[in-house]
Amino acid sequence: MHRSMNGFNELSIAGRVATPGDSGWDAARAAWNLAADQNPVAVAFVESADDVAKVVSFAGRTDLKVAGQGTGHGAVALGPLDDTILLKTERMREVEVDAGSRTATIAAGVLVEELGAAAQAHGMCSMPGSSPNVGIVGYTLGGGLSWLGRRYGFACNRVTAIDVVTADGEQRRIDPDNEPDLFWALRGGGGGYAIVTGLHVNLLPISELYAGALVFPAELGADALRAWRDWAASVSEDVTSIGRFLRPPPIPDVPEPLRGRPLLTFGAACVGSQEEGEATIAPLRELGEPILDTFGQIPAEGLSRIHMDPEPPVPGMGHHRLLSELPDDAIDAFVGVAGPDAGSPLLLAELRQLGGALARRDENGGALPSLDADFALLGVGMPMTPELGQAIEASLDDLHDTMQPWAADGGYFNFAERPCDVDALLPPETCARLREVKGRWDPEGMIVANHALSATAA
Ligand SMILES: Cc1cc2nc3c(=O)[nH]c(=O)nc-3n(C[C@H](O)[C@H](O)[C@H](O)COP(=O)(O)OP(=O)(O)OC[C@H]3O[C@@H](n4cnc5c(N)ncnc54)[C@H](O)[C@@H]3O)c2cc1C
Repeated sequence: MHRSMNGFNELSIAGRVATPGDSGWDAARAAWNLAADQNPVAVAFVESADDVAKVVSFAGRTDLKVAGQGTGHGAVALGPLDDTILLKTERMREVEVDAGSRTATIAAGVLVEELGAAAQAHGMCSMPGSSPNVGIVGYTLGGGLSWLGRRYGFACNRVTAIDVVTADGEQRRIDPDNEPDLFWALRGGGGGYAIVTGLHVNLLPISELYAGALVFPAELGADALRAWRDWAASVSEDVTSIGRFLRPPPIPDVPEPLRGRPLLTFGAACVGSQEEGEATIAPLRELGEPILDTFGQIPAEGLSRIHMDPEPPVPGMGHHRLLSELPDDAIDAFVGVAGPDAGSPLLLAELRQLGGALARRDENGGALPSLDADFALLGVGMPMTPELGQAIEASLDDLHDTMQPWAADGGYFNFAERPCDVDALLPPETCARLREVKGRWDPEGMIVANHALSATAA
């Protein structure tokens, strides 16, 4: 059967199907990241695994492709959606916690903060990153770099089973014993192998911990960053931290003391008691007079807000690279390109501390069993005008190139905001295995993800 202009009438789901020309089409095709201009042939707002299976089967019959999307935080890298149905999971929001087995079952559209709240209600926590309203599924399929990462590894390796619809339209539950190759691929290799309808994850027996951020004037510069780097190398794996230059825009939404001035922030999460946390953070408090100090013993569900990431949809452009080391000259170079005197148009340039369990190979892990780098460098700008967008792109290139001498191989899937092949991110042997999985489960290339394997081995 071939698709006609009104062929979507034949796609009958409990949710809604929007097509170009419908009223509200622009809202339907929008992503959380407003810099993404998505033009699919239709948007399917699915409500259940059955709906997903119907959409995938319909796409198969009509020579269309399907792209899964939770929130659109990772939408800029998705590329054109010609001949593609955008399958939005935002209506699938059920979360179930089983306190006895310390596990949660979540539907495909659940957000980080929603799983966090459900786990908190049972005195437990999940593996949140820095944004409360990123989708758990997209975050986890790309790895899931959490505030608890140095202690517990990547979020993807705490997944016990995944409910999927494969390109043949079948619903399956996959786990270490059932289709282990597909289960392996989806844990860190991204979403290009099947549409996920649900995740089953292990929770952690943590209900509160010491966490927050110190905000200093950016002028503290290289000396403070060196002190943070040395401190980060000395703390235990219970501590995961981020150092960054931040330039909040001069808008009323930003609290007065932070508005429109260059800042240097150090955020951290410390698993343990308040007393232990205070002792751990004490050296950072001595770096200067903070403009803001939000550290304290907090409920674990609050972790995803300590970084103060933007929550409402915004336009964002980012670029990243992994660093194998951060010697003094790397810090000088970072300050030169992103510090207070750089005149950078970026909202932030940050260094996320890796190592610990993130660097140790998880033998039962998926396509991202570990990451061999000391820091992840990430730059982000908000292109409010086309001119600013050009300046941001140039500045992101500059940041990336300046730090090249200290670069580690590959990249981190979730921070690859620019379009690139999976082959640019994961090791060749991982990509070879992912290519086999793709060939077996989606030989026609029907499932579209924000990063795809290159057609041939790199
Ligand atoms: C402000 C901000 C903060 C962030 N902080 C962190 C952080 O601390 N740690 C971290 O690791 N990452 C972080 N990220 C990156 C984020 O995890 C990725 O952008 C992730 O892809 C977002 O998932 P999503 O579902 O919200 O986005 P989407 O754009 O909806 O999804 C991204 C991709 O995931 C896949 N996908 C989503 N749903 C499905 C599905 N049901 N089936 C199959 N594939 C699917 C698709 O390939 C899709 O293109 C951050 C991003 C932003 C913008």
